[in-house]
Amino acid sequence: MTKESKIQSWIRPNIAQLKPYSSARHEFEGQADVYLDANENPFEQHLYHRYPDPLQWKLKSKISELKSIAPESIFLGNGSDEAIDLLIRIFCEPGQDHIVIVEPTYGMYRVAADINNVKVKTHLLTKDFQLPITEILTQQEARDKILFLCSPNNPTGNLLSANDVRQAIEGFDGIVVVDEAYIDFSDQPSWIDEIAQYENLVVLQTFSKSWGMAGLRLGMAFAQPAIIRIFNAVKPPYNINQYTQDYVHDQLGKEEEVRSEIAELLKQRKILSDYLNQNPWVDKVHPSQANFILFTSDKARQIFEYLRAAGIVIRDRSQVVLCENGLRLTVGNPRENQIFIEKMEGFKP
Ligand SMILES: *Cc1c(COP(=O)(O)O)cnc(C)c1O
Repeated sequence: MTKESKIQSWIRPNIAQLKPYSSARHEFEGQADVYLDANENPFEQHLYHRYPDPLQWKLKSKISELKSIAPESIFLGNGSDEAIDLLIRIFCEPGQDHIVIVEPTYGMYRVAADINNVKVKTHLLTKDFQLPITEILTQQEARDKILFLCSPNNPTGNLLSANDVRQAIEGFDGIVVVDEAYIDFSDQPSWIDEIAQYENLVVLQTFSKSWGMAGLRLGMAFAQPAIIRIFNAVKPPYNINQYTQDYVHDQLGKEEEVRSEIAELLKQRKILSDYLNQNPWVDKVHPSQANFILFTSDKARQIFEYLRAAGIVIRDRSQVVLCENGLRLTVGNPRENQIFIEKMEGFKP
């Protein structure tokens, strides 16, 4: 069997047979003088009285330049959370199939599986937060359809070893998702560059973090066109609204500005981690390739409550497996980080 036919065989049978909804905007893609095909209100003359492009070609062509990948290899979702949900709905038969996750990691993989009545098979990262790759591959069963990897990983902040990720992609008999929500803060290249080589690879990125547009809800999935076509068949026809398509298109012109913001953020990350490293109440500061820092303290809960009372909210991860006593601190702007440091100086258990 070729890999191509394997992908077809991994898709849920009802999805493989799906005849997708064909919208008015789908069936007529050209320009016309008179649009009487979509039951819109012709008297409203603002920017939003028409249905948006269901496949977002104008925006995708811009993203295609930015990421050096063909528009046919791009799916856009209402946040990457939509892509996570669609992946599970496309490949996992409820009540039968499983996803595989490696904890601690981003919580949405499990929630999306739970919502879809898909079992979650769990491995633990090693002590240094790397993949137990032999265990993952030797314990795979036929019903394990998707392996979710997150690199840089949330909440630990580290990159997964590229060798291990490659072994996973090559050895896992199913879809391997590499969630790169934080890749722009790391010093390693994206797995997007490998998509031409691997038919079972899906890379997730988002405009919520480095691009600073979390409020718009725009996430990206990159994969070979065979997989993107299935995404497009299953997604709600108009999943990305017109405002978001236009606004993000324009913001992409600010690439240089965003790059310099990221550079400043990395400096701030160093200032915060240097500070935490010498704070007497902090036990361990994990190295970060993301825009947040995981640190531990046996006073974690007290620090969290103390900061909260002082008007600073960070994320308590102390109950998360392998993150005992862990707190996750997002890197803010210089003023915010200074306030954090000043308050931490006043902490007494
Ligand atoms: C924040 C985050 C996302 C973001 O998803 P959006 O829905 O695009 O905002 C995805 N994956 C991970 C690991 C994240 O931390």
